[in-house]
Amino acid sequence: MICSNCKKQVQHSEQLLTESGLNPEKYRDFIFYEGEGCLDCNGTGFRGRTAIQELLDLSDRIREMIIDRKPTSEIKRAAHSGGMTFLREHALDKVFAGITTLKEINKVTFIE
Ligand SMILES: [Zn+2]
Repeated sequence: MICSNCKKQVQHSEQLLTESGLNPEKYRDFIFYEGEGCLDCNGTGFRGRTAIQELLDLSDRIREMIIDRKPTSEIKRAAHSGGMTFLREHALDKVFAGITTLKEINKVTFIE
């Protein structure tokens, strides 16, 4: 989590947005947050941790797809339309809420 003592507003380059799988058109003017680094966080800009998770609800439809050995991409698509939030999306929610940074989640989740 971003250190609350040195948290500051930032905007990201089109390159970083693109590398992060975000549409630069949409997020060019978006206010992201980062920690500048201070005594409280030992200069890291981070203090404390938060969890990100994804949970696959084994509905009958998903269960059948697994039994039928359907491709992972197909199962993921079905799970998503059934309301599943993927790990990356959950992490992005925390970035948009100013809880953590885009660069940090790029280290710990895959960009889809
Ligand atoms: Zn700090």
